[in-house]
Amino acid sequence: MKPEQSANSYAIGEGKKYLLITFGCQMNEHDSEVICSVLESLGYSAVLTAEEADLIIINTCAVRQKPEDKVTSLLGKYYALKQENKELIIAVGGCMTQQEEAARYIRDRFHHVNIVFGTHALPRLPLLLEAAINYKGTIIDIDEDYTGREELTAAHSSTFKAWLPVIYGCNNFCSYCVVPHVRGRERSRHGEDILKEAKSLAARGYLELTLLGQNVNSYGQDLAGDYTFAGLLRDMNYVEGLKRIRFMTSHPKDLSPELIEAVRSGDSICEHFHLPVQSGSNRILKNMNRGYSREHYIKLVNMIKDSIPGVSITSDIIVGFPGESEEDFQATLDLLKTVRFDNAFSFIYSPRKNTTAAAMREQLSHGEKEERLQRLNEVQHAISSELNLQLEGSTVEVLVEGPSKNNIDMQTGRTRTNKLVHFPGSSDLTGKLVNINISEAKTWNLAGVLEGENS
Ligand code: SF4
Repeated sequence: MKPEQSANSYAIGEGKKYLLITFGCQMNEHDSEVICSVLESLGYSAVLTAEEADLIIINTCAVRQKPEDKVTSLLGKYYALKQENKELIIAVGGCMTQQEEAARYIRDRFHHVNIVFGTHALPRLPLLLEAAINYKGTIIDIDEDYTGREELTAAHSSTFKAWLPVIYGCNNFCSYCVVPHVRGRERSRHGEDILKEAKSLAARGYLELTLLGQNVNSYGQDLAGDYTFAGLLRDMNYVEGLKRIRFMTSHPKDLSPELIEAVRSGDSICEHFHLPVQSGSNRILKNMNRGYSREHYIKLVNMIKDSIPGVSITSDIIVGFPGESEEDFQATLDLLKTVRFDNAFSFIYSPRKNTTAAAMREQLSHGEKEERLQRLNEVQHAISSELNLQLEGSTVEVLVEGPSKNNIDMQTGRTRTNKLVHFPGSSDLTGKLVNINISEAKTWNLAGVLEGENS
């Protein structure tokens, strides 16, 4: 049902509290920052527990089964809350509910859910909330109309670093991936809009921006003219006040020497590439519809390493793709040993509805996948440790993100190469760039002491 809007919908949140739960990737985190901004413009204020909330919004992820299961168990839990507070509004949005089948499933199984919305519906959230207050049933809006998206702002969760989307959607249709089905076709934001937003953030004291997209490398291909991602990076490099520019995620098939050169020559562009390879077997890469071979991937990595001294490269690996033989898996282990990633995020293959891989024969058992994941992580752990060990005794620049989760006397932050660093210091260093002398290297992080504050 498409609701009508009344004049006072802009104050529907006055005095009310909201809880927002986010699953998934950086793009979803950014979408949640936009949802916060929309809700706060309606008068809502944030709380941290469901018991205090008048509105609960779950921003879902559909990339694997696990985050979907967490959503249904949360909704089960919130049934009791709704019995106690009939005015409580519960909304479920994001990639899971952008899929019609899942949207109907949530509506039919959880009658206490008021709104089911998709990834394109954020501009219509005020309408949906206003309608839900007077409507007993469940409103569904999974329309792919994204009119008004560009006008939305984000309530950034940090005051010194921020996500900056540059392209939405994906055209690649990797055979295992649900993203193109839930985020739509690639649409690049106009360069001038991105640069204007970057300049306003830098003027507000932001030091670090991460350019976001499912595949940032194909930025601009849908725009008139020949403005490329490399061109955008070059222009971002001249935004005054910005000290660090990051970007994710890159697809190897669209990674150009021009982009590598833009990173090499751009002072503010961080020396880190997140370049998902997914498998080291050409047979599996073909069945994944990834569009490159292991040989081409290794050539790209060597080009990056030869051009940019001290660069770090991280990746994503899927273990247990349908039909993956021991030989295919060995090819993946061999690629890890050849490329030597600083870090690799490894995942067990999870069949996703509506994807071609889900219909493939020779699906592996969970046990087989788990066993391979363990072997793969052992290989990667050793490589990550060895590479971090090389940084002992060096001095690195760190953007301080705040107190370490496990010890408030320790501060934590990241190097330009995206390595996590812990060091003793006070929390007033948060948001500052400092130099740290690295004294100890661990598999996933570094420890050191403060050298001096960096202006
Ligand atoms: S590039 Fe492939 S894996 Fe990445 S979002 Fe697009 S379809 Fe999914």
